[in-house]
Amino acid sequence: MPEPTADFTAALRRTLAGVDTADARALWRALGVGGVVAALCPDGGNQPDPRRLAALLTELDARCPLGVTLSVCVQVATVLPLLSEATTAGPATGPVAETVAGMVRGETVVALAVTDAGASGSDLLDATTRAKLGDDAVTLDGGKEWITNATTCDAALVLARHREPRHFTSFCWLLVPISTPGVTVEPTGRAFAGSGVGQLRFDGVALEPNALVGRPGRALAGFARQVGVERLAGALWSRAICRRLLTGLGKWLRARPAADGTLWDHPAVRERYARCLVALRQLDALCAPLLDGPPGPPSTVTGMVLKVAAAETVETIAAEAVHLRGADAFRDGGEAALRTEAAMFGIAGGATGTMLAGLADHADDLLGSGP
Ligand SMILES: Cc1cc2nc3c(=O)[nH]c(=O)nc-3n(C[C@H](O)[C@H](O)[C@H](O)COP(=O)(O)OP(=O)(O)OC[C@H]3O[C@@H](n4cnc5c(N)ncnc54)[C@H](O)[C@@H]3O)c2cc1C
Repeated sequence: MPEPTADFTAALRRTLAGVDTADARALWRALGVGGVVAALCPDGGNQPDPRRLAALLTELDARCPLGVTLSVCVQVATVLPLLSEATTAGPATGPVAETVAGMVRGETVVALAVTDAGASGSDLLDATTRAKLGDDAVTLDGGKEWITNATTCDAALVLARHREPRHFTSFCWLLVPISTPGVTVEPTGRAFAGSGVGQLRFDGVALEPNALVGRPGRALAGFARQVGVERLAGALWSRAICRRLLTGLGKWLRARPAADGTLWDHPAVRERYARCLVALRQLDALCAPLLDGPPGPPSTVTGMVLKVAAAETVETIAAEAVHLRGADAFRDGGEAALRTEAAMFGIAGGATGTMLAGLADHADDLLGSGP
């Protein structure tokens, strides 16, 4: 029987042939024109199908710098579903609907601007970016940092405080065209090439009321739910990275001369490699039920477990790939560079420490949910 994603993967591979995979915008355009973005969500829904998402991230990981895959990942897992849901529930015309259509065609790139310049990324309730909502206009002031696609986007989906109480209902989403007067963009160093990661500043940015995405007060709850899909995507992507690293490492160990044979013949080396295989199988096992499940966010607890497991598995395997490969790991584009960037799996979209604190709060649920 053919794989349910076989047609999708075949179309995806055709789409990616000949595209400059180091250029996130060119890649996004190709994914739109090739119908890949539209095909991610089956039956006209707003959420990506987990198997198609896994196929997309695996194919991108095999071809693109990590930063470019990140650029696509945040759009398909978080931005597009959030905007599409707002369009389904709200006005079918206007800037939000136009932006969704532009994204699906690959013409429009939208950044997700949540992490606030004025507060720790783990503590969104203290975010200081503020929206003043009036009848005829919305004004935005503040700043966001470490935003993927900041330097390459057409617009940013910005989480802003519209009420003062430190409560999850105090936040709204605004869709902010990057060319609006008062918006400034600065790149964040040279790490994560192709991701467009940068900082956004908003100084008295005046927007039309139709820049509001969804109902004010619902933004943080919606984000907390949707970030589960981003965490699943991260786990599926980190699985692909681990599989790619172990495949390359296995080939290299079998070819690397040592004593009478190759490095692969050393029991100690094989044991270290086998431990990595076990770690990957554990991550596979965590992802398996979700691959067969319906599109949409997993439970909060499952999302946090996935986030920690993905970060720790990729860290374990990337570290072992560096150590086993020795000096060769430091060649251009080698495992050492990948390991540094892959540390972002323990930070972006929720730091491991914060996830662990949340999981400890759910200890009774987790202990009670075993087989
Ligand atoms: C490559 C990359 C891309 C990113 N892209 C985006 C993007 O597109 N959009 C966006 O909005 N953001 C983005 N981010 C930002 C990212 O989401 C934040 O970095 C993340 O939420 C962590 O916030 P922080 O860096 O401020 O760390 P902090 O929240 O300051 O945390 C620092 C450390 O303290 C620990 N800690 C903090 N609070 C707690 C707690 N309550 N319990 C236990 N430990 C705690 C954490 O484990 C962490 O190790 C990106 C980051 C990176 C690295």
